[in-house]
Amino acid sequence: MPEKSLRPATLAVTVGRPDAEPDAPLNVPITMASTYVAGGDTEYGRYGNPTWQAFEDALGSLEGGRCISFASGLAAVATILDLVGQGQKVVAPRHSYNGTVMQLADLESRGRIVAHLVDITNTDEVVAACADASLVWLESPTNPALEIADIPAVRAAAHEAGAYVVVDNTFATPLRQQPLDMDVDIVVHSATKYIAGHSDALMGAVITRDAELFDVLKKRRDLIGAVPGTLEAYLALRGIRTLHLRVERAEENAKELVRRLEEHPAVDEVRYPGFGGIISVVLGQGAMAADLLTRKTSLWIHATSLGGVESTFERRRRWSSEPATIPDALVRMSVGVEDVDDLWDDLRRALDDLV
Ligand SMILES: *Cc1c(COP(=O)(O)O)cnc(C)c1O
Repeated sequence: MPEKSLRPATLAVTVGRPDAEPDAPLNVPITMASTYVAGGDTEYGRYGNPTWQAFEDALGSLEGGRCISFASGLAAVATILDLVGQGQKVVAPRHSYNGTVMQLADLESRGRIVAHLVDITNTDEVVAACADASLVWLESPTNPALEIADIPAVRAAAHEAGAYVVVDNTFATPLRQQPLDMDVDIVVHSATKYIAGHSDALMGAVITRDAELFDVLKKRRDLIGAVPGTLEAYLALRGIRTLHLRVERAEENAKELVRRLEEHPAVDEVRYPGFGGIISVVLGQGAMAADLLTRKTSLWIHATSLGGVESTFERRRRWSSEPATIPDALVRMSVGVEDVDDLWDDLRRALDDLV
């Protein structure tokens, strides 16, 4: 086991490797097993798997806690929301990931919880809403508005009220934000995005330092069975091995594209939180121009999802479930690790055609 003092790039490459013994594989094998010989700790394939374990060790080390992997980000979100007692209140950003907002609405419509959606940039409003909350959900930056929350202030108010605090760290990745160091209770990831990073696997993860919460969440996963596939865990672990390189390059590209986009006459507004690889732009000529843009490029692929090595973009309001507070002509761009000049040439040609 590597030491705790190692830096993130070294943890990303080394944690979860088998012991270096003669003829041992360098990387953890894909273990296909639904059942194990009786008498051990695992027994059955829904309770554990060596390939998941390696992934969990690696992501846990980067976030600074213990990790439980899930079949998808939303399976992890649902398992956390299950912690909320009958009829109790959840505070969450109105611009949380759309699937999270839909889960909250579904739970509320069935009388399970009370959902209180807030403007995450209005810290006073969020802090006031925490008073009688049972769980406070944060996503920072939000998807796709790219708003930033004051995590320490909200965390303090939530703990004052005895509420759990959760941060969806999908956009920031543990390389840009470590919520557990801000005394947050639970971090959740759609590992489908930056963690796996190649647009080929769905996976989710929950990380916590609280031993009791870890046991409760692990038991819920065992019970519900929202477990990942072994191949997915292998792919996501392979993704982690280059996470630092991909995040650095995507961020470098994004910063350069922000500078160029801000100068382009077709672009009304550029939203960028100052780190990471996601940019949201609002086009001056409206939704139709935004749709046209997504059909006029050849390198930029029109697709939902984000965090892969390839650059993708979409007009978010093409989804009817996207809130009306997101501008109609907002295009969310997930910047990949290609050559930035090629990305810009492709984008600029399409933007030039709009003006
Ligand atoms: C995609 C996403 C999710 C949901 O994860 P899936 O792996 O698609 O189930 C949750 N939160 C954020 C911020 C996301 O971008």
